[in-house]
Amino acid sequence: MSIQFLGACGEVTGSCYYLEEAGVKFLVDCGVFQGSHEAFEKNRSGWPFNPADLDFVLLTHAHYDHCGRLPKLYKDGFRGHIYTTPQTAELANLVLSDAADIMFHDAKKYQETPLYTLNDVKALNSLYRSVQYKTSTRLGNAISTTFYDAGHILGSAIVEVKIDDKKIVFSGDLGNYPVPLMNPPTKLEEADVLVMESTYGDRMHEHVDRQAALRDVIIKIVKNKGTLLIPAFALERTQEILYHLNDLREKNEIPDVPIYLDSPMAIEATAIFRRNEQLFDTETQAHIKAGDDVFNFPHLKYCTTIEESKSINFAAPPKVIIAGSGMLNGGRILHHLAHYGHLKNTVICFVGYQVAGTLGRKIMDGEHSIQLFHEPFELMAEGVTISAFSAHMDKSQLLDWVKNYQKLGKIIITHGEDESRDSLVTEIKKIKPNSNIVEPKFMQTESL
Ligand SMILES: [Zn+2]
Repeated sequence: MSIQFLGACGEVTGSCYYLEEAGVKFLVDCGVFQGSHEAFEKNRSGWPFNPADLDFVLLTHAHYDHCGRLPKLYKDGFRGHIYTTPQTAELANLVLSDAADIMFHDAKKYQETPLYTLNDVKALNSLYRSVQYKTSTRLGNAISTTFYDAGHILGSAIVEVKIDDKKIVFSGDLGNYPVPLMNPPTKLEEADVLVMESTYGDRMHEHVDRQAALRDVIIKIVKNKGTLLIPAFALERTQEILYHLNDLREKNEIPDVPIYLDSPMAIEATAIFRRNEQLFDTETQAHIKAGDDVFNFPHLKYCTTIEESKSINFAAPPKVIIAGSGMLNGGRILHHLAHYGHLKNTVICFVGYQVAGTLGRKIMDGEHSIQLFHEPFELMAEGVTISAFSAHMDKSQLLDWVKNYQKLGKIIITHGEDESRDSLVTEIKKIKPNSNIVEPKFMQTESL
């Protein structure tokens, strides 16, 4: 059996692993690369296999860096099934439709061929096959898969593949805990091969109460009559922020400042969340049963149309704007940055991982002379980061998760920048001294 690493090696994007055993060929995830021109080229390069020969794909979750190349795979000939949770299938359709729409407009603007079209995205909908958590699904003669809740975003999974008697576990992205809405990530006990993420393998999240940190930022912008910009990922992060804001409002801990959710994708994602509240943690479910709408509260406005988005500019500050994209590499947040970024009383609050090379990462790292819509822009706004909002396990949580394995063979560390991977390897060796740990390079093949 062999595995080839087609992404997420020394970086956090482009998750895609190709496995082959006794004539069965499949992928785990098929995500895009993000953050640089090199990423753009990598997304366009071909596959080291014939997509038409692939038997199936297992999809851990709906983040773009895990599902974003699926329509290209279809366009290039793949017609097998995509096994995933129903929530991931629904959210992936949303994410990929949005991506195809952006590509369509970019292609016109820059006169390039889009990576794929909306038709390729729509065609995927007939390929998805639903998998329920903790239920084994047969994939072939001696091959089966079981998905476990990864506590990362709605529908996210740790994917276990059993081939003959060998168990290969793909961690996918492992969620931070405890956080509202999400159940903690499932802990497993056995793997012959473990392919695991290392996004925060070298860092601990701040041990601060994230709701209190959010409250303090809001109180500050109200006092300074400023604007708070929250670049937020449309899936999960936005819904968690709404949950916290709802709670702060109910407890009267923040003033009646207008709050705008200016992201059609996040609004649609929120509707999908509402339809799947059976997957929320017990505390959130109890709130909902008691009649609380955790995603809505007074002075919150959902902005779907361009007109609604533009009307935010006419509202006098202070105000709070939650908009995508989460890493400021596109979307409505850039228009708000152009509008408020030159003001000293504007705060940009980062609530998620900023991939190297993105505008978000540059601002987070303290750059003030930036490029905005291809023009130089002098940023006067203050950038703050609340790392407690992370959707990923930190170093100690990753180690706890590994420690839980009673039987563990080869460990393969992916989905992290090299410093994170190296640091996690060093720490794992302290708790499991005899482990065989591999840090694969892009395109490397390992036999299992
Ligand atoms: Zn993810």
